[in-house]
Amino acid sequence: MKVYADNAATTKMSKTAIKAMLPYFDGCYANSSSLHTPGQLAKDALASARADIAATLNCKPNEIYFTSGGSESDNQAIISAAAVGERKGKKHIISSAIEHHAVLHTLDKLKKRGFEITLLPVHENGIVRPEDLKAALRDDTALVTIMFANNEIGTIQPIAELGKICRSHGVLFHTDAVQAVGHVNIDIPSLNIDMLSLSAHKFHGPKGVGALYVRTGVALTNLIDGGAQERGKRAGTENIPAIVGMAAALKECAAKIDATAKKLVPLRERLIDGLLGIPHTALNGDRTERLPNNVNVCFEGIEGESLLLMLDGCGVYASSGSACTSGSLDPSHVLLAIGRPHDVAHGSLRLTFAEDATAEQIDYIIEQTEKVVAYLRNMSPVWKDLTEGKKNYVIQ
Ligand SMILES: *Cc1c(COP(=O)(O)O)cnc(C)c1O
Repeated sequence: MKVYADNAATTKMSKTAIKAMLPYFDGCYANSSSLHTPGQLAKDALASARADIAATLNCKPNEIYFTSGGSESDNQAIISAAAVGERKGKKHIISSAIEHHAVLHTLDKLKKRGFEITLLPVHENGIVRPEDLKAALRDDTALVTIMFANNEIGTIQPIAELGKICRSHGVLFHTDAVQAVGHVNIDIPSLNIDMLSLSAHKFHGPKGVGALYVRTGVALTNLIDGGAQERGKRAGTENIPAIVGMAAALKECAAKIDATAKKLVPLRERLIDGLLGIPHTALNGDRTERLPNNVNVCFEGIEGESLLLMLDGCGVYASSGSACTSGSLDPSHVLLAIGRPHDVAHGSLRLTFAEDATAEQIDYIIEQTEKVVAYLRNMSPVWKDLTEGKKNYVIQ
């Protein structure tokens, strides 16, 4: 059996989205800035994609800006809010310790430009406390940027509460909703969100395209200068096939969002229960305030990388929380933020599903993981110390 369980990294494209894109490669391929008839047809496609995306988020079409993906949207939102803040002498930004690197690295850059960054801690279940946000707000706070749902541990943040706090303090609120859009219902006006990032390839659309929602009246700064596309805020000929595909994929996901969750939550629970049956295993992230398709666990006494390689050999395509960057093995900043010690954080496994997941696949994953974990523990010197009582278990 082969199971792709890495949908938080990227998803398979929807057939509907592929079909919707095809005419824009070889038929309607004109530049939407051209005044001739084919150009106007391309422009219509762009407008209708914008309207469809706006409708699923309950915002206005002219509040949607197309970008190259989640990373660009995050960068532009943060840089724009920083520019507004800087003009008013406000150089403090609040975010969380578990953000995606597209947010954290942009904040690092601003720090070098003299901004002060407060990273809110999270509960051990991976959730930001609204009272921590309240306490961190200052007169010179220019922006609060907190993700909607975490890409590693799937926790869903109390966005409505956080948004309300920001709005009542008159502080801009951006949310990286890349893992949430298409997976959970999002009604922008009721959440008091000023800016929101999304990316097509996380909801069965094409790679390299995304959008940034910007509430009317919030000033955007260009990251790319040139033509007047996207109302002058993002230059470059629009990638119409990708934008059309993104809109089609989102429309499709949004229409069945509740049905998909209803199907996936029991499978997620079955997998969590199965994996927690392995001794000295813990769930990362909250059990219920969690994306319907995300499971993330730590197994004490093993290395996530070996686990992934062996699971790959069994046809289970998963991911680990830890990122292997330039030869050094840094454990995931998200797992460290929820209080997992370094060595435990290294033994993590993330499994993320799509709507086509089956109970048979879940049972196969549990069975293979049980085998592989037992095998790796058997060879692990750390595990030997634990079983011989020379070291104490961190996960009971
Ligand atoms: C994938 C992801 C991004 C980056 O999106 P790209 O479209 O790949 O640039 C940003 N934030 C989160 C939470 C993500 O999961």
